[in-house]
Amino acid sequence: MRVGVLALQGAFREHIATLARLGVESREVRTVKDLEGVEGLILPGGESTTIGMLMDEYGLIEALRQGEMPLFGTCAGMIVLAKDIQGSTQPRLGLMDMAVDRNHYGRQRESFETEIAVTGLPQGVRGVFIRAPVVTRTGRGVEILARHQGEVVLCAEGRCLAAAFHPELTDDTRLHRMFLDRFVEKVPARRR
Ligand code: GLN
Repeated sequence: MRVGVLALQGAFREHIATLARLGVESREVRTVKDLEGVEGLILPGGESTTIGMLMDEYGLIEALRQGEMPLFGTCAGMIVLAKDIQGSTQPRLGLMDMAVDRNHYGRQRESFETEIAVTGLPQGVRGVFIRAPVVTRTGRGVEILARHQGEVVLCAEGRCLAAAFHPELTDDTRLHRMFLDRFVEKVPARRR
């Protein structure tokens, strides 16, 4: 299995390192051609306006809207996956029927870490939030997998998984494993 990591801007190296720890081969994706032969794609954290603009410029928005590539967005990656971005017209994939509020925690709590309980994981994960968004509206098809103080911070829809925080900045590989098992290899929940 080979998994791509969008490498236009942001924290993509950390995702590559996490995949390596799981024994999964990865590829830095910058162009549509780089998508050939990858079975899933991780959209990293960074600056969602820049990532969206570059994705648009390189034809990746169009290419990824079509097809069935499984996608895992973290932080800015979550923003890029959302249909609605509050107060912004920035380019996006818009594949998940949800609205996000960028930089939701504002200046005072720009960055923080907290324990997050995740549906399907017996033990919580350490959520690293860095100028993080939250999901403020979810459509019917969106499965909510975790909340923080009532706000949705991990959710899934169709071929997409999105986290408001940064699992790649911890040494916990369980959310990447979840992406690989459930979205890339499509292992039914009971066999995991
Ligand atoms: N605040 C950033 C944005 O709006 C996301 C921050 C991050 O990815 N750590 O794109």
